[in-house]
Amino acid sequence: MKVLLVFDFDNTIIDDNSDTWIIQCAPGKKLPVELQDSYQKGFWTEFMGRVFKYLGDEGVKEDEIKRAVTSIPFTSGMIELFNFIRINKDKFDCIIISDSNSVFIDWVLEAANFHDVFDNMFTNPAAFDSNGQLTVENCHAHSCNRCPKNLCKNVVLVEFVDKQLQQGVSYARIVYIGDGGNDICPVTFLSKNDIAMPRKGYTLHKTLSRMSQDLEPMEPSIVLWSSGVEIISHLQFLIKE
Ligand SMILES: [Mg+2]
Ligand SMILES: [Zn+2]
Repeated sequence: MKVLLVFDFDNTIIDDNSDTWIIQCAPGKKLPVELQDSYQKGFWTEFMGRVFKYLGDEGVKEDEIKRAVTSIPFTSGMIELFNFIRINKDKFDCIIISDSNSVFIDWVLEAANFHDVFDNMFTNPAAFDSNGQLTVENCHAHSCNRCPKNLCKNVVLVEFVDKQLQQGVSYARIVYIGDGGNDICPVTFLSKNDIAMPRKGYTLHKTLSRMSQDLEPMEPSIVLWSSGVEIISHLQFLIKE
């Protein structure tokens, strides 16, 4: 049985947030205050839709945004990690679940030639329209009340694992690699055999520490990482078991 590796994108695969990074493409490298203040909690995709419209209206072209997105550095050790997964692809399935968007993730994977490492990607679908403006939609609709309207990573993960099971693919365990607040929902639903890998010092790590102090016991083992190289060591240990 293979191991399922689940990756977040922003601040996990890449060492920044792609949505905020592209603000450097805006005139003066900042958004107008009204636009900045128009964000409502839980409605990030709608906010980014307005940001992309603003960039389009300001004449920022696709290739300029692409250049910005593909210049975001990979998190330390991620390139080594993806090369490791590639040569051990018979032991791992690998998916991305991200609140970024399909265009940004495609660009990054394509520029670094890592598309073959990933079996599936679940994110907000995006595309450039006929006016050259980037548009983005919600990843899906769900009824989880812990998560923003556009994406519950737990619902995505459960649906993926169920679909694989129907096709006769079951996993020895799930390893979930992430950093952020929206990774908490899927991590709390992992089971005893699974491994949550929060990026050290980031929101997911801090929240899980707080939960363990509040004696909310967590089923999966928790393994912190700062570099993809540490993730390689752990995966090497798992596939030797
Ligand atoms: Mg993240
Ligand atoms: Zn959720």
